[in-house]
Amino acid sequence: MAKSFVPVAGPETPDELFGKLSTGVPGILFCYWLSADGEQHCFPFVSGQITDLFGIERPSLRTSADPLFQRIHPDDFGLIEHSIVESATRLNPWRYQARLRLADENYRWFEAYSQPERQADGSTVWYGEFHDVQHYKDLESELRESEAEHAFQARFQNLIAQLSAEFINLGFEHIDLCIEELLSTIGEFFDVDRSYLYQFSDDYRWMYNRHEWCAPGVGHKRDSSRAISVTELPWWSRQVQSMIEQNRVMFVEDVDCLPADAPDEKTLLQSQGVSSLFCVPIRIRGRVCGFFGVESLSRRSWRTDQEDLLIIVSGLLSGALERNRLEQELLNQSIRDPLTGLHNRRYLMPRLTEMLGRRNRYGESFALAMFDLDHFKDINDSLGHLGGDYILQRFAEELREQTRSTDVVARFGGEEFVVAFSAVRRPEEVRELVERILQSIASTAFTYNDSDVHLTASAGLACITELSSGPASPDALIDLADHRLYLAKKSGRNCLVDASGTVRI
Ligand code: GH3
Ligand code: MG
Ligand code: MG
Repeated sequence: MAKSFVPVAGPETPDELFGKLSTGVPGILFCYWLSADGEQHCFPFVSGQITDLFGIERPSLRTSADPLFQRIHPDDFGLIEHSIVESATRLNPWRYQARLRLADENYRWFEAYSQPERQADGSTVWYGEFHDVQHYKDLESELRESEAEHAFQARFQNLIAQLSAEFINLGFEHIDLCIEELLSTIGEFFDVDRSYLYQFSDDYRWMYNRHEWCAPGVGHKRDSSRAISVTELPWWSRQVQSMIEQNRVMFVEDVDCLPADAPDEKTLLQSQGVSSLFCVPIRIRGRVCGFFGVESLSRRSWRTDQEDLLIIVSGLLSGALERNRLEQELLNQSIRDPLTGLHNRRYLMPRLTEMLGRRNRYGESFALAMFDLDHFKDINDSLGHLGGDYILQRFAEELREQTRSTDVVARFGGEEFVVAFSAVRRPEEVRELVERILQSIASTAFTYNDSDVHLTASAGLACITELSSGPASPDALIDLADHRLYLAKKSGRNCLVDASGTVRI
């Protein structure tokens, strides 16, 4: 025969029963009553933890639920009210999550679940429980943060990969464009107001704003300070020193809090509206040649790894600039003469073709002088080959000094030089200039190993306007100048021959 369980002693009242039940469960059990007109509400029953957690005495909740409702976070209140009305209307389970203020004044997240029941008088009673879910909320937000961080890192890596591909693909002629692109992309990515690239002079006394990107509506600083004298800013000068010597990143978190010994730096930065900035050195072949920087006009918090990320960007820039320098050197080597630093024939010929193009299109005239040092073999014989080299360098210098930057000065062969004079208005002007060059050579005593060396040169000069018979070409112009140089040599050297005849020096 089945035996039924008969408790020896048990709770006598529902209150007692509830009290005992509620101590055994982790959540807070409750009965919540709402009058039919929604005007009154209370907790006829609620677990004793309500006092431990919120410092609210249970009897007060029996007459009004307000003491507990007052603990609901203001941002969550509206939602709870709405959910109660909805649950009361449809008799759906009432479920919500909200922050409640504990006795220690801290908010924690709770989740409630309860079942409504309509009473005969139209009021509603919910039976259920609520419990602390802060731990889950913390995990949730940690997860969200780590997902956001993961996405950020992935975007950053993508960006760097894309920018470095651009540097490689576009090549060095587009380096300026690539740098501008990098500055704007990085500026937008880190949500800064300006990003820039400064270059130091070789002696670190000056710094020049070479590239700058500004967010929409932000003024350029290079308009007011394209070149800055580092020596006039002692505090900044020390920062530059530590960038150079220790490869240190310079971070000013708040310009208003710059040290007392940086008054001029503070005034300058404040006049540019800067609030905080990061500057990261850029190295080419191990030497700091400038820095890359970002800055913000308003106060902001920077990522803790901001410095590391900017170092990656500056590494990319350093690499690109170094490659660019190398490519430029290689190009220079192929178009320059290593002894004199002048351009070589390989460079000269396409420039002559360009000048011819301008002549055909715009009627812009040009002339070509070919120089040859007189009796140069004798100089080599008396000074030795190195002495000869030295004289060639001095002669090259003379040509460079006497001509304009738009003229092309080239070493054509051993001791033969060519100057292509661009935009010639009157051929006589060129003749006078060539005359002056020859005079200057003839009257200069070049000193080599403490002995004076006297030197003369001869020149043949031809202007493109003289080539009217056949088709004008660079080669034809060179041939004419070369022929006149030959005539100059024949007529005794130290002279120049042009269309008008021989001009003795
Ligand atoms: P001329 O007045 O007829 O021009 O007499 P020249 O002695 O200058 O004769 P030429 O132009 O034929 O001789 C050029 C000499 O220049 C021959 C060569 O040894 C020398 N030379 C060519 N290239 C170099 C160089 O790079 N360095 C040195 N030191 N000598 C060079
Ligand atoms: Mg010669
Ligand atoms: Mg010669």
